[in-house]
Amino acid sequence: MKRTLRTPAALVGAELAPVSQYPALERVAARYAVAITPTVVDLIDPADPADPIARQFVPDEAELDERADERDDPIGDDAHSPVAGIVHRYPDRVLLKLTHICATYCRFCFRRETVGRAPALSREALESALRYIAQHREIWEVIFSGGDPLVLSDRRLRAVVARLAAIEHVRIIRLHTRLPVVDPARITPALVRAVQAAGKATYVVLHANHPRELSPATRAACARFVDAGVPMLSQSVLLRGVNDDPETLGELMRAFVECRIKPYYLHHADLARGTAHLRTTIEDGQELMRHLRGRYSGLCQPTYVLDIPCGHGKSPIGPNYLRRDGKRYRITDYTGRRHAYPPA
Ligand SMILES: *Cc1c(COP(=O)(O)O)cnc(C)c1O
Ligand code: SF4
Repeated sequence: MKRTLRTPAALVGAELAPVSQYPALERVAARYAVAITPTVVDLIDPADPADPIARQFVPDEAELDERADERDDPIGDDAHSPVAGIVHRYPDRVLLKLTHICATYCRFCFRRETVGRAPALSREALESALRYIAQHREIWEVIFSGGDPLVLSDRRLRAVVARLAAIEHVRIIRLHTRLPVVDPARITPALVRAVQAAGKATYVVLHANHPRELSPATRAACARFVDAGVPMLSQSVLLRGVNDDPETLGELMRAFVECRIKPYYLHHADLARGTAHLRTTIEDGQELMRHLRGRYSGLCQPTYVLDIPCGHGKSPIGPNYLRRDGKRYRITDYTGRRHAYPPA
């Protein structure tokens, strides 16, 4: 059986990185977690030096290049963490971070300073987190984040879901995961049952960034959720050299919709350390969104969002189609032409 690659030596051995980069990659790996599952290795074309899958997962010496605006905690989770494992930024929902482990580590991860290193939530810390949720009646939704919550055992997931299901005011359980892409065999019927509870709605949000990630095995894994009555949404990160061209982004959104996954968020890449080579400008992102709106089904439209540093939350960042022009509005259509619209 093939193993997950976890060291620069293993990457060089698998011909995913050149020997000449080895010393630099040792420095990258000492700083940030590295793991590439056999499924992801199979998605990579080693003959393509610009392969969009390799770019997301194979460490690069460019990660040693840090910029002044980059931060350890780019979206400000720490500022809103009342107890370990909980991030409570918005009134009606919390993140519950049960683990910091992922099956595969993304080179652009906004939690790259903690993933793969911080310890899992202890039994006592989990009790405090559950107590916090039970005591705050405004919490309508609990979002399993991390790390990747689906690396946990079915037993552990079932136990936490059952505890949440017993809390009357929690109505929605949402899981953010990359497992259907990086380890589709993990999405077993037993796992799909483990994350559901009578009387509560479970949603799964899939993180994928390139249409090739939606392989036949991944599509089948997603179908196991959807067929079981678990609606799916997508989140993608806009990444330079991965999905920042109109056709790739459009095909990615179509692939989601074909899998019955409703495109939800396109994230502008966060200011995580050593990720400048993967970021685009916001203008690039808005131009791509205009292109999607003009040429693809309404089902294929995600919301382009920016997570504001220091914990101020996510805001949609356009493009904006409506402008006030004196007494009237000017509204832009999908081809870019402007039209007047009367005030109320
Ligand atoms: C992103 C995020 C959420 C979820 O936001 P939605 O807009 O509901 O998807 C919730 N809490 C925190 C702290 C987040 O960063
Ligand atoms: S799966 Fe999510 S949490 Fe894990 S490394 Fe990738 S972006 Fe980070």
